[in-house]
Order: sequence, then structure tokens, then C-alpha cells
Amino acid sequence: MSKINYKSVEEIELIRESSLLVGKTLGEIAKVVGPGVKTIELNKLAETYIRDNGGVPAFLNYSGFPYSLCISVNDKVVHGFPGDYFLKEGDLISVDCGVVLNKYYGDSAYTFAIGEVSDTAKKLMRVTQECLVLGVEKAVVGMRVGDIGYAVQEHAEKNGFGVVKELVGHGVGLQLHEKPEVPNYGKRGSGIKLEEGMVIAIEPMINAGRAGVKFWDDGWTVSTVDGKPSAHYEHTVAVKKGKADILSTFSYVDNVLKEKNKS
Ligand code: MG
Ligand code: MG
Repeated sequence: MSKINYKSVEEIELIRESSLLVGKTLGEIAKVVGPGVKTIELNKLAETYIRDNGGVPAFLNYSGFPYSLCISVNDKVVHGFPGDYFLKEGDLISVDCGVVLNKYYGDSAYTFAIGEVSDTAKKLMRVTQECLVLGVEKAVVGMRVGDIGYAVQEHAEKNGFGVVKELVGHGVGLQLHEKPEVPNYGKRGSGIKLEEGMVIAIEPMINAGRAGVKFWDDGWTVSTVDGKPSAHYEHTVAVKKGKADILSTFSYVDNVLKEKNKS
């Protein structure tokens, strides 16, 4: 785990396929997620869909994690358990999904609004997505890991939100979590140099209130210290010259949500 695994063009294409399946799975979640839905049902749907498409849910049994999705509602930041909770109007639900396909991993996360949410929640979702976009823009040859973190942190804090520092993005490849770590905070021009062949997951975790988090006794769930909501968006990206190559996709989610908003 100590060194960075640089990927060949062929390997990047395999990670793209895995990440595409993650994007399609999130699209399936988008179709059904809404008030009255039990979060464990989303987990079942994802597991079935991933297996039907030749993949294996990457999170299931990862260091003992018992589910195929991480589902983190409202004040939960990441690594929440799906369960008997029925989603209700006003909830924010972060869904993190990973897939292994042809031995390579893909990793992506999306935060959904359930029905009409508060103005703060709407702003939190928008700003966190913007943080992801700004971070991805820095995933180019010649930049450093600290440039990504700086871009994310600067935008979140400018908007009055807290940046989670205890959990970070990471390299992706033959393992779910590879080097380097990709924090959502940092100094410009600091940290590891970004080079061709690096594939990283950029995943801002942004809190509506304070930055602090607490770790639950279940060994997994992370929530905000102040009980305010948190949002999480993630892409798996290949570092390139000029412009990052985003291997995962929100296009399936976006298309579903567009249709839903029409009706
Ligand atoms: Mg993830
Ligand atoms: Mg990740």
C-alpha cells in the first residue's frame, strides 16, 4: 500500500467499465428513491443490479462492512448502514457505491433530496457538487494533491460549510483504496505530484454546520458532531494532461431526476 500504482491505458479502460456500472447502479437507485422507501430495499436493488451486470458489490465484506451500499441519511456523513428506516420528505440521503468488475474497482457517490428539502440542504447539495467539480478540475498533470484539497476546502468554507477532514479520497485500481490519499483540504502546491496513470477518487464530504464528526460504536457510521446534515459526492477520475478524465458518471442519475421533475 505504500506506493502509487500507475495505470496503463488498458487498465484505465477497465476502471472506466467498473465506474460506469457504479453510475448505472446509482441511476437505478435514483428511479426508486423517495418518501416511504426503506433504505435496505435500495441496498438489495443495488446488489442485484450489480451482480446481474457481471460485477461484485465492492463494499460488501470490505473490512467486514455488511452491505453493498453505504447509505448515510441527514446527519450521517458516510459509511451508514442500510436498514429499516423509511425515507421521509425532507431527508438527504447519501448513497456510496463501489463495484469490482474484471478485477478493477469503481467508486462513486451521490446525495439525493427526498421530496422538498430545506434551503440549507439545497445549498449544501449544490455547493458540495461544485466542490467536486472544482476538485476534479485540479486532477491534471502538473498539479498536486494539495491543489485538489485547497479547491474543495476554499469553496466549501467560503459558503459557510464545514469540510470533513477525518475521511479522504484515495487511489482506485486493483484495490478499492490505494495510494495516494486525497484530502478535501490542503495547501496549494503541496503534496504528491499528479501524473499520467494516476486514478483517484475525489469525494468531498461537506457538513452544513461544523466540520467535526463522530465515529459510531458500530465501527462504521460517521455522523456530524452538531447533528446538522452532510452531503457527499464522489467521482473516480484519471489524471490527464489539460483535463481530467472522469471515469464514473452522474448522467444516469441526472436523466432519471430530470424525468421525475417533469411529472
Ligand atoms: Mg465511495
Ligand atoms: Mg471512495
